[in-house]
Order: sequence, then C-alpha cells, then structure tokens
Amino acid sequence: MYAFTLEQPKTLADAKRLTTGGAQALAGGQTLIASMKQRLLRPENLVDLGGIDALRGIQVDGKQVVIGAMTTHANVAGSAEVRKHLPALASLAEGIGDRQVRAMGTMGGSVANNDPAACYPSAVLALGATVVTDRREIAADAFFQGLYTTALEPGELITSIRFPIPTKAAYAKFRQPASRFAMLGVFVAHTGSGVRVAITGGGNGVCRHAGLEAALSKSFTPEAVAGVAIDAADFSGDLHASAAYRAHLVKVQTQAAVRQANG
Ligand SMILES: Cc1cc2nc3c(=O)[nH]c(=O)nc-3n(C[C@H](O)[C@H](O)[C@H](O)COP(=O)(O)OP(=O)(O)OC[C@H]3O[C@@H](n4cnc5c(N)ncnc54)[C@H](O)[C@@H]3O)c2cc1C
Repeated sequence: MYAFTLEQPKTLADAKRLTTGGAQALAGGQTLIASMKQRLLRPENLVDLGGIDALRGIQVDGKQVVIGAMTTHANVAGSAEVRKHLPALASLAEGIGDRQVRAMGTMGGSVANNDPAACYPSAVLALGATVVTDRREIAADAFFQGLYTTALEPGELITSIRFPIPTKAAYAKFRQPASRFAMLGVFVAHTGSGVRVAITGGGNGVCRHAGLEAALSKSFTPEAVAGVAIDAADFSGDLHASAAYRAHLVKVQTQAAVRQANG
C-alpha cells in the first residue's frame, strides 16, 4: 500500500463535503482496497461511509423496496422484508461471492463500481429501479453506461436504491467458479405491464435484451425464449467462455429464470 488519508464522517453532509473536495468514497472495500493493493487505483484521500447510519437499512415504502447504499449483501439476503416483497433480490444477494464478501460488500459499492460481471446491476436494470444520490434521482436505464462506467459525476454519492416490487422476478446466474461473479447472469422481471430482461457477464456491462423482452411480454414461459435470436456478436469472449458460449447461456439462463419466477 502507500500513504493516503482516511476520514470517517458520521453524517452524509460531511461525506458530501469531502467527496466534493476530491476524496474517494470507501464502502466495504471489497473492490477498492484490492484495486489499491494492486496499484490500479491510488486515491490520496478516502472517505469511509461506514459510520453514516442514514446510508444503511431497508424500508418497504408502498410499492417499493428502498435499500440504503451501505446495506451489505448479507443484510439484503437475510432481510425478512426483502424476502417477502422481492425474494429474487434476496436470493441474488445470497449468491454473491463468499461469506466475507457478503458481510462487507454493499449495494451502493456494487452499483457504483458497475463491474461487467456483477449481479446487482442486472437487478437494478431489470426491475427499473431508481438510483438515488446526494444530488438527484437516476433511472436505471440512464445509470449504467458500459464497462465500469455509470452516470455518477465525480464525488457524487449513491444514498439508496428504490426497487419497484414486480409481479414476478428471478435471477439465474451461471457462476464463474474461481471468482464467483457471473460468467453469465439473467434477471427477469414481470412488472404487470411488461417484462424486462437484464443480462450481466456478457462483456461490456449490463444490458437489456429487446428480443427476449418482446417474446416474454407475449408469453412468460421458457418456451417463448426458444425462438428468440441471440447474436454472439453482442457478447465478448475471454479465457473463461467464448462469445458463442455466452450467447448460448443467455437463453439457458433466461429460461431458468422464467421457470424460477413462475414457481
Ligand atoms: C472474491 C469476490 C467475489 C465477488 N463475487 C461477486 C459476485 O458473485 N457478484 C457480485 O455482484 N459481486 C461480487 N463481488 C463484488 C462485491 O459484491 C462488492 O459489492 C463489490 O466488490 C464492491 O465492494 P464494496 O461494496 O465494498 O465497495 P468498495 O470496494 O468500497 O467501492 C467500490 C467503488 O464504488 C465506489 N462507491 C462505494 N460506495 C459508493 C457510494 N455510496 N456512492 C458512490 N460511490 C461509491 C467507491 O469509491 C469505489 O469506486 C465479489 C467481490 C470479491 C472480492
């Protein structure tokens, strides 16, 4: 490691002041600390968000589940409210990484980081969630902008995420066994008026699939997925899987998610 300062504010206002001044937010450190150790990032000033109670917690607000940015994956997975109103999200959180990652990793850190193989971005996008920051509200469709890129401006802090409660939803992840991230994961959400499908692990960041959404909006069945064309050119290949294999997994995982959502 190398020298850096660490501030531990107790209020969002103090954290805002520090990040606006150029300091970098630290959540559970599951990505950031590892990136610093590898010298991929060298922030001079860190702001630990862990002492700000207002950034933690889960509320069910009418037709939405609102989750604070500093809520850990373990807390989402174990929440009776999330299990009741959004079981697909609880099960997604339960399948993230290992026990340590779930104990330290946070909703806000995962969504801000926008790793192309992370699980939460697919839930945020498929459910049409809203990312709430210290400055504004950002619709999921405008938030994710490609590989590790989001609509967040420098110093902008995610405070919570609002998830509309769907009629049916499920996440099916084909796990990359070494990292435990998604080799390919598909989140399907039936909103009542239509179906949204978000794919993670495909290459350039989470994305929706218009063909799958159209087919599943007509018939929310695994059979409806069979006739949808999935173009391997839309996906990336690497040492873990070719683009063609990922395209194949899109269908398989979508069918698995629909089956799960239909119970
Ligand atoms: C071994 C391992 C396995 C994993 N497996 C999975 C998996 O299966 N699925 C999956 O989805 N993820 C997985 N992860 C990622 C993990 O879930 C964490 O959520 C992710 O690493 C981010 O960590 P963090 O929340 O501690 O954020 P940090 O590492 O502290 O921060 C990450 C980035 O987000 C920024 N940030 C943090 N909080 C905020 C905020 N509130 N507002 C604005 N910016 C913010 C930071 O400045 C930094 O740039 C894995 C990680 C590891 C190490």
